[in-house]
Amino acid sequence: MWRHLRPITSRSSLSKMRSFSALVQSKALVNGNWIDSSNSATFEVRNPSSGEVIGNVPNMTVSDAQDAINAAKQAYESKEWRSLTAKDRSNLLKKWHKLIEQHSQEIAEIMTAESGKPISESKGEVAYGNAFVEWFAEEARRIYGEIIPSPVANREIIVMKQPIGVAALITPWNFPLAMITRKAGAALAAGCTVVVKPSEDTPLTALAVAKLAEEAGIPKGVINVVTTNKAAPIGDLFCKSPDVRGISFTGSTEVGKLLFRNSSDGIKRICLELGGNAPFIVFDSANVEKAVEGAMASKFRNCGQTCVSANRFFVQDGVYEKFVTQLKQRVEALKIGDGKANDVQIGPLINQMQFKKVGGFVEDARGKKANVITGGKPLPSIGPLFYAPTIITDVPPTAQLYTEEVFGPVVSIIRFKDETEAIQKANDTRRGLAGYFYSENLQQVFRVAKRLEVGMVGVNEGMISAAEAPFGGVKESGIGREGSHHGIDDYVDIKYICMGNLKYD
Ligand code: ADP
Repeated sequence: MWRHLRPITSRSSLSKMRSFSALVQSKALVNGNWIDSSNSATFEVRNPSSGEVIGNVPNMTVSDAQDAINAAKQAYESKEWRSLTAKDRSNLLKKWHKLIEQHSQEIAEIMTAESGKPISESKGEVAYGNAFVEWFAEEARRIYGEIIPSPVANREIIVMKQPIGVAALITPWNFPLAMITRKAGAALAAGCTVVVKPSEDTPLTALAVAKLAEEAGIPKGVINVVTTNKAAPIGDLFCKSPDVRGISFTGSTEVGKLLFRNSSDGIKRICLELGGNAPFIVFDSANVEKAVEGAMASKFRNCGQTCVSANRFFVQDGVYEKFVTQLKQRVEALKIGDGKANDVQIGPLINQMQFKKVGGFVEDARGKKANVITGGKPLPSIGPLFYAPTIITDVPPTAQLYTEEVFGPVVSIIRFKDETEAIQKANDTRRGLAGYFYSENLQQVFRVAKRLEVGMVGVNEGMISAAEAPFGGVKESGIGREGSHHGIDDYVDIKYICMGNLKYD
């Protein structure tokens, strides 16, 4: 059935790519055409486990990105998109969902090859990411307006929600599929068209799902994918172009701030999902076994490279020894290696920059008298980007591990005495994405859940993401929410229509 999904690849890399999927593309998608960059430049995509080149994709220019914006604008205004009913759009999203489901194994293999993520996690991400397509297919039909009782006779106040227009979506490498579907699913459901700029580290997953969107019958120009390893000028174009009405970005706080500043002139709709510095608090009242389980899930998923990963562990005196001992046993049992093996739990870090950052943070903490109780070193015998799962205790507030997001397999533990101290330390950061705590005390549960300065709280739970729930942060972790019915809000404008001089009698 999918024989016509031919890979369009250069001869040199063809054999390697064929080995894992016919969905691998080597061209970008603009206006329904699979194209090269206008200057024919390409860049390599590497497997971080082995360093092997697994693909080449177009290194697109600002003018190519402008073409993509033009295509998205044209598609937005075309009958093929504008005239569709919400149900039509819903049906197209459902077809896309079905195709992603049918190709989940292939997509997971592409994801593991380009991100290093263990295959079991890649399969999990395909299911999780695809849940957003399904969810927003359903939500498309529920973007309701309102009729509000008017204070003036013979008038009606009607409120409707309309798509904002073209949205630019800039996504990171740590969830190569889910960060695209979480944005594009909502945008398309609302009736917008999109230009996606995937991470330079993981463009193949993005192109593969775009190929399936095309197969699903989503009209040309509705989804455009611009691949580049020179993001800044294209990001700048998105900010400055009057035809881009909204930007949704997931990535670093630095780049998020830049986009926020640069898009202010055009008063653009902006949704930012930025870095976190998640506290993970274990109170004396906790079920320690459950807390260790949650800590493993929250910290070591995707090798610690998620923005909701626990970053600072605060453990109360009474359970400190027990928690640390049990966690150490679990950490030392983790299986590390190339993610394509079924039993691997920890893959490599994504690139050299991340690798250096993680090692640098550990050395910084060591220099500040923290104790490395396990790990704390690179693992060159496995591969150049592998770093040992690490636990460091007595991390001082001056350490980078305390103030910044490590984005790696490093557990930083800080001991505390009472609840007030724990909350004060947990909130002692400019970030506020996720926070976790373990307690079996009902009063404490409500007190702490309310006081944590974060957008999402896991109570006795280390994995909290779901398409049904609103994902997002407070403070410098971002603005806007993705997923849930709130996820549509960034892609619609509210229009008030005043119907006057109505004759009711
Ligand atoms: P990370 O540290 O997770 O790689 P980045 O913020 O650098 O986070 O990258 C997230 C996404 O933002 C990627 O798609 C990247 O190419 C893109 N990006 C990086 N710099 C810019 C920029 N100046 N303008 C727009 N996008 C950018």
